[in-house]
Order: sequence, then structure tokens, then C-alpha cells
Amino acid sequence: MPPMSLSSTPSANRTHIGFFGKRNTGKSSLVNAVTGQNVAIVSDIKGTTTDPVLRPMELLPFGPVVMIDTAGIDDEGELGTLRVKRTYRVLNKTDIAVLVVDATEGMTAYDRAMIDRFRDKGIPYIVAYNKADLARPGSQAGSLPSGPDEIWVSAKTGMNIDALKELIARRARRDTPPRPIVSDLVSLLDLVVLVVPVDEGSPKGRLILPQQQTIRDLLEAGAVSVVVKDTELAGALSSLGRKPRLVITDSRVFSHVSAVLAEDVYLTSFSILFARHKGYLDRLADGAFMLDRLSEGDTVLIAEGCTHHRQCNDIGTVKLPAWIKAYTAKKTRGNLSFEFASGGDFPEDLSRYSLIVHCGGCMLTEREVRYRQACAKDHGVPITNYGMAIAHMNGILERSLEVFRESRSG
Ligand code: SF4
Repeated sequence: MPPMSLSSTPSANRTHIGFFGKRNTGKSSLVNAVTGQNVAIVSDIKGTTTDPVLRPMELLPFGPVVMIDTAGIDDEGELGTLRVKRTYRVLNKTDIAVLVVDATEGMTAYDRAMIDRFRDKGIPYIVAYNKADLARPGSQAGSLPSGPDEIWVSAKTGMNIDALKELIARRARRDTPPRPIVSDLVSLLDLVVLVVPVDEGSPKGRLILPQQQTIRDLLEAGAVSVVVKDTELAGALSSLGRKPRLVITDSRVFSHVSAVLAEDVYLTSFSILFARHKGYLDRLADGAFMLDRLSEGDTVLIAEGCTHHRQCNDIGTVKLPAWIKAYTAKKTRGNLSFEFASGGDFPEDLSRYSLIVHCGGCMLTEREVRYRQACAKDHGVPITNYGMAIAHMNGILERSLEVFRESRSG
């Protein structure tokens, strides 16, 4: 993935619209018609789309989305089965599903099974009966549009394509309300200090995504952001002229920042902010306490949401295991194992883990994060994130959560 520019909307912040259906229902043509992009070569031969294809676009008046074209759910053979598996995995990041049904054929058992999957996962869906230009009324095998979330379309003639876009935007507005990152915690002209270490682990010439997004959200709230390195924090605080309302730090320097900062200033981390932004603050805070209950022979999974941001790797694969080993040394006598997962390779079977420590997940969609949470819950495995684990091991988790408590009671 190319470096993120400040003007582009990160993929994780875009609403993900997945197009699903049998082969040869015209999914790719429909995605082309909706996006106005002719990226995929579309043919009448079954199974032209092999891997999921992502197309970012602005869906007006809703906002930034990613349209995902997937392989047919009725694909066959060894390779076909793998493609179907990949299609099902797309469900984990899908916010709104569009089931594309061939209008000349009507709804089939495959389509109904797919609807069951949407319902199981709580994914809002729309049914688009494509090839409406070819369908003769009364000649179809199954049921045809009858509800508010069903629509006749034709990718070939352009029939109802705008209506489909409006329908998707309506569902997206209703089912994916935006959540603030930090703007609800501050008021106009509040001073907020962001602590960002710059070292060999930092990307060259830019801030990472959670930092960019936090600054943007603070701008939106009319707050004043000051960004400093951990090494300059003490000097910056004494030269600012007033106490900040809040300090947000990179987790790696949590304990240093906590030591430098006056007790009455709110402190939290980027990863804790994003845990709340994605809706799972309490659960991850509870998971951090599992660090106190780890025993000899336990295995901890350290999971990261992407593979391309190398700056998170040293903390995930080197520092965090060392800190956890040191913190639990009395109980585990160093006999603790670590396994690592990154990108889309989140293990399906989590039963062998005693704890999952996940990165901030800034590149993951809310639904993917929820899916990982649900998997952990299904297997009865506590889950926390880097920021909370580090804060807890440094005895500052309670302090890191105070700013949210105040905003809740207020
Ligand atoms: S590893 Fe996690 S926190 Fe780091 S950039 Fe990737 S998704 Fe974001």
C-alpha cells in the first residue's frame, strides 16, 4: 500500500460495501456501473473475478466508501473452494452487503444461504436483481423485489444504478453512524499535547495514521494540538504557559510521559483512544487484568492489523513479549510462549491462547475488529490492546481511563 496522503481517506475509515452473489450474476459489471470505473475485465465466462477487488470512491451524499467485488459463492473445484473462502472472509470487513441476484433466474438456494450468513453476522444487506433488462415479469424461478431493500437493476443499460447508490447510501447512513476519536473529550481552544517518539522505528517523513486522525479530529473540535517528541515533553510543558487538558501518548513511552506529567492532567494513549473509537474500550481494559493471571506454560497471541507498517513490529515482536515476560516472571518463571499474527492472518482457532494482545487496529474496519472480538469471546479468551497492556504493566491504566469516565458522567 502506498503511503497515506493527508488528503486521502484511509481504508479503515471508509464504509465497506461488499458485493456478493453467484458467478455470472454480473457482480463485476454492477460494481463497474456503481463506481463508474472499468477496472475489472468483465466477461460472460463464469468465475472471472478470482480475488476480492477493492475500489475506493466517494458515494455522494454519504461520503468515502470502498466497493468490494468478490468471487462467486458457487465457485467449484479446489481453487474455487479457496476463492469462496476468501469471499466469506470479506464478510468480516463488510459494513453493508449487496447481494447480486440474476433477475432472469430469481433467488436461489445459494442466495438464501448467503442471506443467512449476513443475518448471522449482523450485516445489513440489500438485494439487487441484476439483468432486469432481460427478465420478463412472471418468468423467474424465485422471489423478486418486494421490500424496501430490494431493487431491480441493469448494469448493462444503467437502469436504477443511481437508485441503487442512493439505497446503499441510505443504509450506510442508518447503519454506520460515525464515532468521534477525541473531539467529544475536548472543548473549543482546549490545549492537547500529543507525544510522538521519533526513532528508528518511525516511518520516514510522516506521522502514522492514528496520529494523523487524532490531529484531524482535534482540529474539527477547535482544540489546540501541540505535537512533541517524548524527549522534548518536559521542556514543552514548562514553556506552554498553561496546563494541557489532555496528553495523548504513543504507548511505547507511556511510563516516561506519566512520570513527567502533573497528576491532575488527563493522560491516555492513541491505542486506548482507538479502542474507544471502535467501541470496545471496557472489554479491552478488562483483558489487561489477565496479565496478572497468566501462569507457567501459557501462550499469548500478539496480533497486528497490518503487515506494512513496520514501525509497529518492534513493539509487537520484541518489546511487548519482553515486557510481559518481565511483568509475569514471578508467576510464570519465564515459561511463557508467544505467537504472532499480522494482517489478515488472524487465527480461526484461538482456544490455545490464554490472552490476546492486539495492536491499535487503526487499519482495520470496525466490523473486522468486532469480528476479532467476537472470535475471542467465542473461545473464552481475554483480549486487550498494546496501549492498555503497557499502561497496566506500568500501573497507569486507571489514570489512562479517567478522561473517558469524566466525559461519560458529564
Ligand atoms: S500494526 Fe496495527 S496499529 Fe500498527 S499500523 Fe497496523 S493496524 Fe495500525
